Amino acid sequence: ESFDDMGLDDDLLRGIYAFGFERPSAIQQRAIVPVLKGHDVIAQAQSGTGKTATFSISILQKIDPNLPQIQALVLAPTRELAMQIQKVMTSLGDFRKVKVHPCIGGTRIAEDERILNSGIHAVVGTPGRVFDMIKRGALKTASIKIFALDEADEMLSLGFKDQIYEVFQLLPAEVQVVLLSATMPNDVFEVTSKFMRDPIRILV
Ligand code: AMP
Repeated sequence: ESFDDMGLDDDLLRGIYAFGFERPSAIQQRAIVPVLKGHDVIAQAQSGTGKTATFSISILQKIDPNLPQIQALVLAPTRELAMQIQKVMTSLGDFRKVKVHPCIGGTRIAEDERILNSGIHAVVGTPGRVFDMIKRGALKTASIKIFALDEADEMLSLGFKDQIYEVFQLLPAEVQVVLLSATMPNDVFEVTSKFMRDPIRILV
């Protein structure tokens, strides 16, 4: 199995190979195509498995770079992880010309609002700041078609449950959901059963 067999856009493939990846990891082999087909996916995976590139590649393929609208939202538990994901997505999506913005606490709200309105395609952020920017009307959710929650167990144990639930309520009803978590405690299970439709579950 190779990245070439996944039906990915040529510019995205160039980005993947330029980033140094040669072959998909196990989770990438199992999860990318189901996400591209539109399924909700729960991936139980630790760091080090290639989980970041799994949802990044899927999201980048689903984004139409000619549409100057926010089409994907990724939530992560910490600013550092959000920044890291944003960098990976920006690199992989370089040739495809996908613009990804980090929406994290500790930066100027006004600057964030300006960038969010400048035709970016995807947002990666922490739950608190993302919820805040949606409430302000700065982060427009109407065109979001895919929503990824990275390290869901970590986000919930950090107390982000209410914010995650509120973000869900503000997304289009038909949004596709991809959830990644190292463990599956009850509160993660609750999120998946409340907000995901017939999810495919992948354990790596
Ligand atoms: P992650 O599980 O997202 O924390 O990724 C762990 C590491 O694996 C990162 O340094 C990635 O750049 C790397 N990685 C992810 N996918 C691949 C791949 N298909 N080939 C080589 N390295 C990869």
